[in-house]
Amino acid sequence: MNVSPTRRLRLAWGGATDQGRIRANNQDAMHADSGLFVVADGMGGHQGGEVAANLAVRTVAQADPQGLAQLRDAVTEANRVVHETALEQPELHGMGTTLTTLAVSRETESPQFVLVNVGDSRIYRHRDSQLEQLTEDHSYVAELIRRGEIDEEAAAVHPYRNMLTRAIGVHAEVEIDEWVLDPVAGDRFMLCSDGLTNELDDSEIAEQLALEQDPSATAKALVALANNRGGRDNSTVLIVDVHVELVDSANGGLSPDDSESQSPVLERPDEPDLPTNETEEPSVEQGHSSPVKHRSWLYDRVHITLGTVIISLVLLVTSVAMVTTIGWYARSGYHVSVVANHVVIQKGRIGGLLWFEPTLQQWTEIQTIQLTDQDLQRLSDGEQMSDLAEAQAFITNLRTRLVEAESGN
Ligand code: MN
Repeated sequence: MNVSPTRRLRLAWGGATDQGRIRANNQDAMHADSGLFVVADGMGGHQGGEVAANLAVRTVAQADPQGLAQLRDAVTEANRVVHETALEQPELHGMGTTLTTLAVSRETESPQFVLVNVGDSRIYRHRDSQLEQLTEDHSYVAELIRRGEIDEEAAAVHPYRNMLTRAIGVHAEVEIDEWVLDPVAGDRFMLCSDGLTNELDDSEIAEQLALEQDPSATAKALVALANNRGGRDNSTVLIVDVHVELVDSANGGLSPDDSESQSPVLERPDEPDLPTNETEEPSVEQGHSSPVKHRSWLYDRVHITLGTVIISLVLLVTSVAMVTTIGWYARSGYHVSVVANHVVIQKGRIGGLLWFEPTLQQWTEIQTIQLTDQDLQRLSDGEQMSDLAEAQAFITNLRTRLVEAESGN
């Protein structure tokens, strides 16, 4: 007779992502589902960053890994998919992404967490008021810190601080870091992109995590803080709270579905804000299409007269207003288009306007190979749509017809 209690795992999670105050688009992607949590931070021009991050996240999510070996395979597959897509599409050459994943392993009798990481997105664990970074950054500055050549402060302003030493999709092969952890009740995990950790230090993050707000509120608060500090990059936060219940398996009356009590029971209390959510306000768009590299410019000592200040201010306000207006127009509206052989919704004018390229709003699983010539022609002709709902209705209609065509065969 088995009298040992079974550990029943219950997770609560919530996430938030935002493009920040400087970047023209959000190259972060995330996924949160029962037992699988992923954050990716893409890089590469011409939407390469968005494509790489979304392809990688989607590949891992579709693999639905049930243990460490499957998770490792899924990440290897994500690397292959991103790398091959980059080779096939000249405009996507050189794209890559970080990929950080926490998953529940269902292979063992008691559930465990399996973690894998490539790049400089991070997983932290908050336990007993202590914050611990579990992953190791695969970045040039982290390498210098590990070798004792520079400290954290020097790393924060280092000209090469954005340079990764490992990423998904850059090479045909990728080395993956991995960890296996036992679930401990009360643990709070945080997956995040560097847009958060470049703006906030560990003590500020710990302070927010210790407030014990629900995961979604915590994630939103952290992303908002990163934006308040400058929001120089896209930031993404995914919070996962661990609850462990001991279920006495000898007590038959306790759990009618005893056969299932050995596998983790995952509840889905909170839908994360996925990157497709419309959170941008046009006024935030300032027309910067490249990241601001130096965070110390404000502190430069410049001696100027009041007259210069007033003239400069007037010029500045006028230019900002112009750029904001053009930017607002350039980025208003949506259209359905094709990126990396997938049908996507893009935000902005067809073909872009001045230096405002359309940005990826929503990635879909629909591939161009599935489309009829007529649909392909419609996509290449382009059709400017006024709102996201119209574009989504177009996709729904396309998807419905694809399903009908398949079932008709
Ligand atoms: Mn980033």
